[in-house]
Amino acid sequence: MKADQIHFIRTELDRCANMREQKQRIKQLKKFKTCHYVPVYRGNHIYPDSDEEFYVSPMPLGKPDNQSFLGILNDELWFGCGLTEKEAVALEIQLECQFESIRQYAMALNDDMAHIALYSRGLDLWQRQKNFCSKCGTRNHLESSGHKMVCENGHEQFPHIEPAVIVLVSKGDQCLLGRKHTWPPNVYSTLAGFVEAGESIEDAVHREIYEESNVRIKNVTYFGSQPWPFPSSLMLAFNAEAVSDDIRLDDEMEDVRWFHKDELIKWAKDGSIILSPRFTVANNLISHFLGKRI
Ligand SMILES: [Zn+2]
Repeated sequence: MKADQIHFIRTELDRCANMREQKQRIKQLKKFKTCHYVPVYRGNHIYPDSDEEFYVSPMPLGKPDNQSFLGILNDELWFGCGLTEKEAVALEIQLECQFESIRQYAMALNDDMAHIALYSRGLDLWQRQKNFCSKCGTRNHLESSGHKMVCENGHEQFPHIEPAVIVLVSKGDQCLLGRKHTWPPNVYSTLAGFVEAGESIEDAVHREIYEESNVRIKNVTYFGSQPWPFPSSLMLAFNAEAVSDDIRLDDEMEDVRWFHKDELIKWAKDGSIILSPRFTVANNLISHFLGKRI
């Protein structure tokens, strides 16, 4: 893998969005194609000890109404199965293994499996939060093979994605990293924040960097995106050059500072600082800046 290659950026999975309303077609395909059913509980999956991949069942799990069509990969159909607490506990007992977050297993998954895990996680978390319509308060039910909620008065709701910008700001051989008060000790990362209502991504990049560090930037270039359903973000990554270097912190940040490339490599190696895990786009941005994987 190249130093700057973003994890989970591409997949061979065909989401087949035009099939979601075609219940009969999916039902027919199920009869003669291999199907994989991914149990999901609160966005988490089961990772059996002996296996690097998450557990997949050849048979449907949970209630049929909670089955989400994810798409087709290598001519095989994939479904997410959102489980109730009771169903999840029963499966944990059966498999002698517990539901866990993708975070600690992400690096072991290939891109296609990571996509399916993140995709089923994002849908499941959204579905669990949307029992009632946000417009009229009546009960929602799932439609469009798990991709749409409709209430008793016909109001439609779709999965909610929150775009966030994440930026590596450089100044020659130095880059700008920071840490929030809430983070574990010594953890530093690229600056990031959510795009606000009525705001362009371009403006959000300039605003977030200025708010968190007081640094002004230029030459902003798009680096890539990464799905980040924790619970519902889409990370939009950028590189930028500093036009000022005087740092002033806002209330959110405990520390923001310039790191020289050599310091960064040395301190990350000896544990003086802890950078974001390798599967994160923050790590990909820093690796790209250093010209080597860190
Ligand atoms: Zn409604």
